[in-house]
Amino acid sequence: MLHIVPVRAFADNYIWVIHDRCHAAVVDPGDAAPVLDFLRRENLQLVAILNTHHHNDHVGGNATLLREFSVPVYGPAHEAIPTLTHRLREGDNVQLAEFPLSFSVLDIPGHTAGHIAYYGANLLFCGDTLFACGCGRLFEGTPQQMHASLQKLAGLPDETQVYCGHEYTLANIHFARAVEPGNQALLELEATVKKLREQDIPTLPSTLMREKATNPFLRCNQLEVIQSAGNYLGASLPDPVSVFAAIRSWKNDFAAPQREQ
Ligand SMILES: [Zn+2]
Repeated sequence: MLHIVPVRAFADNYIWVIHDRCHAAVVDPGDAAPVLDFLRRENLQLVAILNTHHHNDHVGGNATLLREFSVPVYGPAHEAIPTLTHRLREGDNVQLAEFPLSFSVLDIPGHTAGHIAYYGANLLFCGDTLFACGCGRLFEGTPQQMHASLQKLAGLPDETQVYCGHEYTLANIHFARAVEPGNQALLELEATVKKLREQDIPTLPSTLMREKATNPFLRCNQLEVIQSAGNYLGASLPDPVSVFAAIRSWKNDFAAPQREQ
């Protein structure tokens, strides 16, 4: 049986560890220390590192982990990550030999130009592209690219478990409620998420079904989202990409209690 456990790093990163009580693969180890602590405590042998994009809070621990474990490092073909051994692009497959698990690779540019996701066995590791109730900032891509990437993820099955790179859910819900005050599912989610956060419990994974019901960045074709985006810009917006671009820049201006990466 596979276990997927968040290891916390920095202020709000999650490093996801996939393990079977013997072997472990780690997704986006921005910091090696908490991963090494976890591996020692659980007596696990690292067998692979998977990176979604080049930001240091996702790859910064690679080199230190490699000093202790000689393992393959998977990551995006089009980003400069010095420790990569396997450069991946859309359509590639990652078979982790020690697990009954393989991932297909999706290109999801927008947050960074070469960002990839890993999808398999109803699990999605999407780094900083799709967050619970939000999406990543557009550091290197266009709204068109990010919208297309999010649509690609939204096309996966509803029951897909969504493992994101950060705990931003509550702040994201506050923004989503401003965009879609009439969305009842958001109110229910906020109550659930508040309780979890009060107990310092991660709000992830999410599911794609939940994201489609609550995430404004996946709901750019919904009337209330279109109207709110239009009100923000003071213009009527002709298509979902324009709606997406408007709410993404609105979010950048929105008073958020957490920094966002
Ligand atoms: Zn990032």
